[in-house]
Amino acid sequence: MRAAVLREHGEPLEITDVDRPDPEPHGAVVAVEACGVCRSDWHAWQGHGEWVGDRVRDGQILGHEPAGRVVAVGDRVERVAEGDRVAVPFNLGDGSCPQCLSGHGNVCEDGLALGFQQDAQGAFAEEVHVPHADYNAMALPDGVSARDMAALGCRFMTAFHALTARGRVGAGDWVAVHGCGGVGLSTVHIADALGARVVAVDIHDAALDLATDLGADAVVNAGGRDGRAVTGDVRSETDGGAHVSVDALGIAETCRNSVFSLRRRGTHVQVGLTTDEERGEVSLPVERMVMMEADFVGARGMPPTRYDELLRLLESDSIEPGLLVRREVSLADVPERLAAMTDYETTGVEVVTEFA
Ligand SMILES: [Zn+2]
Ligand SMILES: [Zn+2]
Repeated sequence: MRAAVLREHGEPLEITDVDRPDPEPHGAVVAVEACGVCRSDWHAWQGHGEWVGDRVRDGQILGHEPAGRVVAVGDRVERVAEGDRVAVPFNLGDGSCPQCLSGHGNVCEDGLALGFQQDAQGAFAEEVHVPHADYNAMALPDGVSARDMAALGCRFMTAFHALTARGRVGAGDWVAVHGCGGVGLSTVHIADALGARVVAVDIHDAALDLATDLGADAVVNAGGRDGRAVTGDVRSETDGGAHVSVDALGIAETCRNSVFSLRRRGTHVQVGLTTDEERGEVSLPVERMVMMEADFVGARGMPPTRYDELLRLLESDSIEPGLLVRREVSLADVPERLAAMTDYETTGVEVVTEFA
């Protein structure tokens, strides 16, 4: 089957033939119908993450936002059957450790990251293997296309979990979103669906226009301006500061700007992963955070067991992930589309919908 394989960090992915996966006893094989292209793929391709022992190795098939149809299941799989339409989170749980059993499978003690680890080859391929399929494969509601589900990708679920479980956003709260790429725009859209008021921050007007379309009440263009000016604007737009502020990018500037956007007792949620510049570390205004009793929390993916809540939001038409899809591409386009991310040349979400 065709697949996009990482050969060397920073070099174009190789589109090549690889063996089709066989299901493990607990696994399922899914014929991929759509898979989102995400900045996490770009980070992996660049070789980021070594500072937390998380560097993707050569030979990896990337791609972690698949939706498709089950074509084979292992002997021990009970809930999932051939022909089922499913989506798969990137944060694969084993379904049996204390974290999974207490509803936190996104931080499974024995978890795998789909498309980032050798034991979990990714979905920029005609077929993908899903370990512990009973736990990790989520049935798609009728009427939800694979394309829209792939657009939900890791961004919508990450945004949903970040806002609800980690930021505990309430209706009427002000939410600031720093960085309006895929996950940032998803955060804007979901915050709006949750009844929050949203201020979106980015350096590109095109991204801010899209944020407005998706529900942002105010926008701040941070291009060429220092953090003090940007966060001053955010605090005045939000009547004194955001209740919840999200760094959806992961560079030092957006992380600090996000913290400085908070009101007293506000919560910063870190979603973006850092780059070569930060190598996982960002200096923070600790005393300010103490004085204001600000919270700083991380958010990673979403527990598979919470898919129902996200799908309910989808079925109620409160969110429309398809709105974010700006381009459908083929597997052969993936190397070039990742390269386009280097200079932040992509807008919205791009989804691979052709795999042959
Ligand atoms: Zn687990
Ligand atoms: Zn992703």
